[in-house]
Amino acid sequence: MSIEEAKRFIQSAYPITYPVIFERAKGIEMWDVEGRRYLDFLAGIGVMNYGHSHPKIVKAVQEQIEKLSHVSMLYYNVPAILLAKKLAEIAPGDLRKTYYANSGTEAVESAIKLAKKYSVKVKGGTGSYIIAFDCAFHGRGGLTLTLTASHKYKKLMGHFANYPGVVHLPTPYCYRFPGDVETCKQYTLEKVDEYIKYRLGPENTAAVIIEPVIGEGGIIVPPDGWLKELEKICRENDVLLIVDEVQSGFGRTGKIFGHEWENVRADIMTMAKALGAGLPLAGIMATEEVDKAWEPGDHNVTFSGNPVACAAALAGIEVLLEEKLHENALKVGNFIMGKLRDASLKPVGEVRGRGLFIGVEIVKEGKKPDPEATKRIGNEMFKRGYIMGTGGIFGNVVRIEPPLIVTMEQADKMTDDLIDVIKGLQ
Ligand code: PMP
Repeated sequence: MSIEEAKRFIQSAYPITYPVIFERAKGIEMWDVEGRRYLDFLAGIGVMNYGHSHPKIVKAVQEQIEKLSHVSMLYYNVPAILLAKKLAEIAPGDLRKTYYANSGTEAVESAIKLAKKYSVKVKGGTGSYIIAFDCAFHGRGGLTLTLTASHKYKKLMGHFANYPGVVHLPTPYCYRFPGDVETCKQYTLEKVDEYIKYRLGPENTAAVIIEPVIGEGGIIVPPDGWLKELEKICRENDVLLIVDEVQSGFGRTGKIFGHEWENVRADIMTMAKALGAGLPLAGIMATEEVDKAWEPGDHNVTFSGNPVACAAALAGIEVLLEEKLHENALKVGNFIMGKLRDASLKPVGEVRGRGLFIGVEIVKEGKKPDPEATKRIGNEMFKRGYIMGTGGIFGNVVRIEPPLIVTMEQADKMTDDLIDVIKGLQ
């Protein structure tokens, strides 16, 4: 098949914005089948935190696939056990027990199942409700589509994307809140308290689920102290707190896990994306207390705990810790954000983020979202050889999420180009 035929084929099967066929990658560089080079400033949507084809990870995968590539989770395998042990060492708070899955969607669904079982079996409640937030993204399965807030993913799915029992409360999206940050913080927290106490009832509320940095919704960083206060509300009302670290985990925000920024003690944590260092792997971690609700056989999928994916994950975590990639994420991320803020660009409503999890909100007069200009920025950056994301609940956020190995020089050059492209819009 020629490259032209291949492009026609993919366009007819699934028309995508960029008909590019990638062939190989190394570090933050990627090459397509025509030999064109790109810089990956999206990390495969938050997956390649440790860079593409890291030699340690490649070696671990090669060695493991020669030994054992799959075994049913009715049994155990060595990398799955070693990874669970390692995760228990690095996870914050009391998260000690690991269960594997293949995707973020499955991890979130497992977390909800566990929270509901805990609510009914251990607490003696009904566990009928889950509180999520109105900019949340938690996946595209049945239950997870319900938890995901944006209509664009739910269209034409009817009840399958809107199961009863999920309540969406306002996100602390303070840039768009009609008041100052403190009022935004108090208002959004009071809503959670009000719903648990007076509308749903603590005994009926199984859990609150939150992304420490709300990713797909627009890289929204809750105000300082918000997450800690949320934890307090959950504790006071005896409701579980689930932190969805699918995108914010493994160094992305400048800490190993995003909820470490506020010293939060979560009851359940979800993981995926960067966990498998490029191979499909996901999981949840729970406290020993919450774990009481699981019975053998409650949770399993065919590929959970795949030995090759677990070997990659283990090597990836070693790379993260040895190379202190979270520290680099913080340093380079602050540099990019500072430079973009200093440029005082008119279409930029807000530059926000944590570490290398950065959003640039593109607006018209009066903070009106400008998704068209955002798309143009993404396309223009692509022409200049950058892979970058655009998204957000209104489609007006440029996403910057490179592998955490990105250098200051690479970041500086990309930021210059981005500033130039945004200036070209005016
Ligand atoms: N939770 C969060 C916070 C996510 O960002 C995503 C994916 N963008 C998911 C869950 C779903 O993960 P997956 O695509 O692996 O199913």
